[in-house]
Amino acid sequence: METKEQIYDDLMKCLKENEYPHEDIEFIQKAYFLAEKQHAGQKRASGEEYIIHPLSVALYLARMKVDREMIATGLLHDVVEDTDYTLEQIASQFGSSVANLVDGVTKITTLKNSPSKSDLKAETIRKMLLAMIEDIRVIIIKLSDKVHNMSTLCYVEEEKQKRTAKECLEIYAPLAGKLGLGVVKSQLEDLSLKALKPHIYEEIIRFSRLCEKEKKGQIAEVTKKLQQKLEKSNFTYTIKSRTKHPYSIYNKMRKFNKKLEDVFDLYGIRIITETVEDCYAIFGMVHSLFQPVPGRFKDYIANPKSNGYKSLHTTVMVAKRTALEIQIRTYEMDQMNEYGVAAHWYYKTGEKNGNLKWLEELKRMQGESLSAAEYYQTIRDDILREEIYVFSPKGDIYKMPQGATALDFAYKVHTQVGHRCRGAKAGGKIVPLGKALKNGAIVEIITGKEACPKMEWLSLVKTTDAKKKIRAFFAGKDKIAEQQTTPSAADDKQLDFEFTPERLGQTMSVADNRKISIEVNGEKNLLFSFARCCHPVPPDKIVGFVSRGRGIIIHREDCENLRSQPDYQERVLHADWGTVAGSKTYSFFLKVAATNKHYTELIGYIKRKKGSILDYRLDESTKNEDEVDCYLSIDMPASIDEHRILKDLRSLPSVHFVGRR
Ligand code: MN
Repeated sequence: METKEQIYDDLMKCLKENEYPHEDIEFIQKAYFLAEKQHAGQKRASGEEYIIHPLSVALYLARMKVDREMIATGLLHDVVEDTDYTLEQIASQFGSSVANLVDGVTKITTLKNSPSKSDLKAETIRKMLLAMIEDIRVIIIKLSDKVHNMSTLCYVEEEKQKRTAKECLEIYAPLAGKLGLGVVKSQLEDLSLKALKPHIYEEIIRFSRLCEKEKKGQIAEVTKKLQQKLEKSNFTYTIKSRTKHPYSIYNKMRKFNKKLEDVFDLYGIRIITETVEDCYAIFGMVHSLFQPVPGRFKDYIANPKSNGYKSLHTTVMVAKRTALEIQIRTYEMDQMNEYGVAAHWYYKTGEKNGNLKWLEELKRMQGESLSAAEYYQTIRDDILREEIYVFSPKGDIYKMPQGATALDFAYKVHTQVGHRCRGAKAGGKIVPLGKALKNGAIVEIITGKEACPKMEWLSLVKTTDAKKKIRAFFAGKDKIAEQQTTPSAADDKQLDFEFTPERLGQTMSVADNRKISIEVNGEKNLLFSFARCCHPVPPDKIVGFVSRGRGIIIHREDCENLRSQPDYQERVLHADWGTVAGSKTYSFFLKVAATNKHYTELIGYIKRKKGSILDYRLDESTKNEDEVDCYLSIDMPASIDEHRILKDLRSLPSVHFVGRR
């Protein structure tokens, strides 16, 4: 374990090496002395002095060559939260830029009074992304903070370790990837793997060390051959050999179902040179020296990855049965690939938000009424997922998240193309609608006038957007959904809706408000409707909200959308589920067959028993393609007991599982 003096020395050394001007170094030193004084006596979970943490974060930032304000914020990021020092004091000592950054980082970290752990998680992420939209530097600091916290994760209890690591893999590492912070991404991934699967992690480390020893000679030989050629042609170059990081090896094992010893390209060689022309020239040279493996050449210079990553990749045979990956890039690309958006400060390119189109998407999402869980899911599955490019037969290019299917593509092209989809061809061959598309595929959608969406499509699409469009179709809200291109959370219209549980085609009967009794401030017989954003069902805790012109809207008490309404406090009313003599309300969770039949069976049963459906909602199953999750709330005559209902529902052929909610 390093002492604070050692890390401080490293920081100073790093600042000098990266040629920070004298006044920047003084500025950072001043921040250090303040942080050290303020955190004096505080300890981390590891038992170390607290200052070790902000100091490590600052060192990490200095290695990325970011501006002095960010490094100072690294040092001061916990001062306001954990000591009596105020933001105003920071502003007067270090300027408003540092104060704003500290504020941004603090806001992300401190969130209280959230209803549940998963909501808290989603809410933290929402705040973080909001802060990021305002100033992208906040997120670079937050990610550096995360790296240090992850590296000291072993000091917290095991269950928390696993939870943190999982979240890190789902959100923080992909986010670093999106921002092009390659180094941060791999570190977060490796540290997460270490916490989640310590045995596999150790095994990979041990094995790559062994391989390294074994292959040292071979790598040296290849390097020598390359050097000889490069010298002759007068290139400026650097050759690096590198081991793949443990998580990427683990991923390969998992993806191709391989044993550790069968993952052959454990490491590769990187040639760095000055200009793009040199890259291509060297590439040609490499192929003249070694036999290339067909299909393994990737030109990320002509077609950069969506996060801006640029490089040439090729795999060549360097000996009998030995393949080796060679990457070729310029010095500037190398820096950008490792430090991404952070490198912009170093190169002062001005395009600080770079080619971050997905940020726009995030902004748009802030305006949509999504539940915390939906928000988290969309971020994880759509926005942060790596992208593939898919072409239409005409050559139009579409960006899709990895794992997207032909049906997703159809909906991406146009809602109506999706609705009318009958089949799909990729590369001229018919493919199943639910099969994941490959990068670069040319996809043709076959449509039919009579074709229309089916229930099971919900399990064939991966993007939230396509799911939304399919659900909208079944809810008969298609037109409305189409018109709402720029929704805003502050808009009352979105909160108001008439209570029509999502209908299945034409067959759904609509339960009406009169079947449910609600008391608002002790008053019955009021005109009310249910909020679409949070879907209140018994026994959720509820409140009434006075809308402009639409009577009272019933929301779940913890509805996030509601909180963001203007004059929330004045317009909110106490509400309760009332009791209707002779009937009782039940909420169930079911797993049902992904066909229309389950609905017919359910409604048939409920009608026979003289009950009614209050809420009916479908979600794709996490496990099974032929099954969907169903959330069902029903109103049933009090004469039938719950035990009986459960038993009856279980006996329906299309119902695979029923449980209480
Ligand atoms: Mn921290």
